[in-house]
Amino acid sequence: MASVFDRIRAGLAKTAQQIRERLGASEPAHAGATPAAPGGRSTNAKVDTVEAVEDALIAADVGLPATQRIVAAMKADGVGTPRERVARVVLNILRDVQPTPAISTLPHVILVVGVNGTGKTTTVGKLANVYRSAGRSVLVCAADTFRAAAVEQLAVWTERAGVDLVRAQSGADPAAVTFDAITAAKARGREIVIVDTAGRLHTRANLMAELDKIRRVVGRVVPGAPHEVLLVLDATVGQNGLVQAREFVAASGANGIVLTKLDGTAKGGVAVAIANDLKLPIRFVGVGEGLDDLVPFDAATYVDALFVDKW
Ligand code: GDP
Repeated sequence: MASVFDRIRAGLAKTAQQIRERLGASEPAHAGATPAAPGGRSTNAKVDTVEAVEDALIAADVGLPATQRIVAAMKADGVGTPRERVARVVLNILRDVQPTPAISTLPHVILVVGVNGTGKTTTVGKLANVYRSAGRSVLVCAADTFRAAAVEQLAVWTERAGVDLVRAQSGADPAAVTFDAITAAKARGREIVIVDTAGRLHTRANLMAELDKIRRVVGRVVPGAPHEVLLVLDATVGQNGLVQAREFVAASGANGIVLTKLDGTAKGGVAVAIANDLKLPIRFVGVGEGLDDLVPFDAATYVDALFVDKW
């Protein structure tokens, strides 16, 4: 199988192509612009200027605040071409986030939150597979009890991943199912518990209250838990997902992001906006619909794929 790095690159293909098209569209248009990259005085010479980079960032959905920060930093940094400078700044932004919590106490409890349709249930299945493949014993909890189809989908995923699933009757109290699941994980000596939470209730306040209740129940059974709250965001939504993301972070205490559907979009720059605006690490990216299509995010590979590779 291709390496994690190659799979991140492949997932970013559309975004990278979009950036490349912006920066390679024509010759520098005005006097004093930074000359093209070495060997670039041909018909398809690259437009490697701060303005062109700014344009490309906006087109890739990096968003205004992050783009402004990047451009200011690029102007202050005189070393190298604009593309080399943007690569450095973006890497700093992606790394200047909350650290990822280590797995120290067991069971390690991960809540997965986000709105329906973002790929949350699929992500729970893939995540179970990631930990299982790394040799961890895993138990998944279907706490999205309002969607019978989601529970069925999760049953298929967990069977394929070869991990336990704790589920309840449709409409059962999600916090009660979560309590049962974590109690079962302790009794069975499972190392990782992944909880699929509801993505929609009648009102937003209800949803947030439910997430809060699940958090409290989890903390009662395993002091210090949940150790991770992963917010699933759909990359194809781009900037528009950020307002909602902010609300979720506030209500759920999310401390990490899973960015799904990276493979289907040219808006992969939203990863930079997330790191810049939410200050949260992107833990994993979804690069396809299969069980193996969730890979750990790597900031250096991301930056290489968008600004350094094959120019
Ligand atoms: P939920 O409603 O948030 O639980 O979303 P689902 O897990 O049911 O996923 C919604 C759709 O997105 C499904 O068709 C998934 O196969 C698809 N999906 C999820 N993650 C990815 C991804 O990383 N890449 C692609 N291409 N599709 C994905």
